[in-house]
Formats: sequence, C-alpha cells, structure tokens
Amino acid sequence: MDKTYIFGHKSPDTDSITSSLVMCELERKLGNDNVIACKLGNINKETEYILNYLGIDEPELIESVEDESNVILVDHNSPSESIDNLENLNIKKIVDHHKIAIETTYPLFYRAEAVGCTQTILYKLFNENNVEITKEIASLMLSAIISDTLLLKSPTTTDDDVIAVKELAEIADIDYEEYGLEMLKAGTDLSSFSISEILSLDAKQIDFKEVKSIVNQVNTASIPDVMAMKDDLEEGIQEIIEKEDLDLFMLLITDIVNSNSQVIVLGKDAALVEKAYGVKLEDNTALLEGVVSRKKQVVPIMTENA
Ligand code: MN
Ligand code: MN
Repeated sequence: MDKTYIFGHKSPDTDSITSSLVMCELERKLGNDNVIACKLGNINKETEYILNYLGIDEPELIESVEDESNVILVDHNSPSESIDNLENLNIKKIVDHHKIAIETTYPLFYRAEAVGCTQTILYKLFNENNVEITKEIASLMLSAIISDTLLLKSPTTTDDDVIAVKELAEIADIDYEEYGLEMLKAGTDLSSFSISEILSLDAKQIDFKEVKSIVNQVNTASIPDVMAMKDDLEEGIQEIIEKEDLDLFMLLITDIVNSNSQVIVLGKDAALVEKAYGVKLEDNTALLEGVVSRKKQVVPIMTENA
C-alpha cells in the first residue's frame, strides 16, 4: 500500500499533534502499516511539556508532499489550515470537530462530531474498532481533551468529553486535574519572554471616551506566578505610560482555569477601574471575579463608567 501522511493543522496545537500520533496508531492497528504522523509547524510549549512528560517523540515535520499522495486529516478540514497542495492530494479520511469547510470530488471516510476535542472522537473510534487503548495512547488522548476544553471548563465541553476524560485518566493512571493544571500552566509559561515582550504580547490601545488607555491581557494558569513579577511589570508599565502619554494602563492577568482576572492598573485615571468594577485597588491591583473577556467584559463597562 502507498504511504499515507497524517496531518493536523498549521500552527499546531496539542490536539493536532497528538491526534496525528494517535490516528497513526489506529491505522496501524487496523492493518495500514505504511502511515506516518506529520506536523505542519513547530510544537508549542504546552505540547512540548506533554511529550517530554510522556517520553513520546514528536511527529515528523513534513510541510510538502508530492501530488497524488494519500493523506489523512485530523483536527481540521479547512484547506486554508492544511498542507498547501491539498487539492491535488488523495484524502483518505478526515476525523475532526470543526465546521465542515471542504468539498471533494470523490468519496472518503469522514467522521465529524460536535465535541470538545478530536481525541474524544478517536477515543470512540478505538472502542468501536475494539482496538486496545494503551497507557501511552490514553495519556495523549487525555492531554488533548484537557487542552481543548481547558480542563473541561470551556463552554465547548460536552458530556462525551467528560466521559472520555474520566475513562482515559483511569487507563493512563493520571490524576487528570493535577496533571492538567501543570500542563496548561506549561502552555502559558512566560519565562522566555522579557518584561517588555509580556507587556506587548496582546496589548490593545483603547480609549474609554476621553481616557487614553492600553489594555494588555496575558493568560495564565497561575496568577501568583505572574504576580511574582509585579514590581518589574509596574516599572515597564510606567515607562509605557510616559512614552505614550497614557491616562491608564490595565494589565489583565487572566486565570484560564478559574475564569478570573487579576488586574494591575497604573495611570492618573486608575480609579476608573474601581468605579467600573466596584473594587478597591490595593497596591495598584485587584481581582476582577468572572472577568475573562476584554471585548465583552472590559471595553463596554469601562466606557460606560468613563
Ligand atoms: Mn486544533
Ligand atoms: Mn481540536
């Protein structure tokens, strides 16, 4: 049989990388030995943590294959997110949890479900085909579901994801809540970024009526880890305020696990945050409970109170 390349999407996340590996294992168990797990880009910090922890090799970096090659797509189906010459390839299978954005001129195996993660579907496919889920495979599946559903807390989580996580945690013999937190934390690790990089990673200039502001957001699984840099962050923020002649700088440190944001606020209009959220800034900081969205929970409320 000709070689079959298994691809997740470009800018790969944990689901894409691990689904490629797990799909490869499923194909082999179903008798297709000539398969290769591929990636369309470098892995992120979270995935790196997972593969190191589990002692599993990354898929191979393969960004182009010859026309007419056989491919399997996981965790995506949109050609824009896939290998460049997809239209000239022979897609054998697609296993995915996104909206269908592809059309082919030939039939193929297509399995799509509206669940939180591709691995929840792969988990079902292993069971449906009576293929044993080893400890290693269970660990990969579990990691991806935790990643895509933010530890089953994202609004995309379904009952099927919850069932899969519980069963996979048993097989993998992993305390999924503890492991999941470490894993998500690794994905938000800021240690390789300088203070000025952190302050510009996701900074948006927003004026709340007359109040000239910048709102910057960093995601974390541990607010205390980021707050450990508070003095340096404040020094950096002060420099930006002077340079940009700002009235306000808000740094939202968003806890993706507990869905809260700690905010560090500097500038002459810092009290606007106190008024908008009914909090008291102590030492330039306060916890904004339930606030995770700059677009929905910061801009309108700050503008209304300005
Ligand atoms: Mn993905
Ligand atoms: Mn996914």
